[in-house]
Amino acid sequence: MTLDKSEADCLFCKFSSGEIATDIVYQSEHVMAFRDINPQAPTHVLIIPRRHIATINDLDEPGAADIGRLFLAAKEIATQEGFAGEGYRVTMNCNAAAGQTVFHIHLHLLGGRQFGWPPG
Ligand code: 5GP
Ligand code: ZN
Repeated sequence: MTLDKSEADCLFCKFSSGEIATDIVYQSEHVMAFRDINPQAPTHVLIIPRRHIATINDLDEPGAADIGRLFLAAKEIATQEGFAGEGYRVTMNCNAAAGQTVFHIHLHLLGGRQFGWPPG
C-alpha cells in the first residue's frame, strides 16, 4: 500500500481549514486539537500544527516552534479536561513501525486512566 504524505489530500489539513468538520477542543493561530474518532482512553485528543508536516522526519527549524506549541496546547487541554495533576500520556508516532497512519504530524493526548509502560 502506498501512503499519501502530501498536503493536497490530507485529512488533517481539511480539519484545520474547516473543509471537513470535526470535534474541535482547542484552536489557535498555529495549532488545533480535536477528539480522536477511535479513542484509546476516556479522553483522547489529537493536537496538530495547522502547517502540514508529514512526519517527524520532515521537521525543519520553523517546525520546531510548532512542536513546542503542540505541548503547550496539551498542557492546556489536560488542565481543561481535569487530569493535568493526575497525569496523562502524550505520544507522536513516526512512520510504519510506530503505527503512524495519518501523515500530518499529531500529538496524541490521552488521559483519564492509568497507562502502562513500556507501551505496546
Ligand atoms: P496515528 O496512527 O497516525 O498515530 O494516529 C492517527 C489517529 O487518527 C488515530 O488514532 C485515528 O483513530 C485518528 N483518526 C483517523 N481518522 C480520523 C477521523 O476521520 N477523525 C478523527 N477525529 N480521528 C481520526
Ligand atoms: Zn496536512
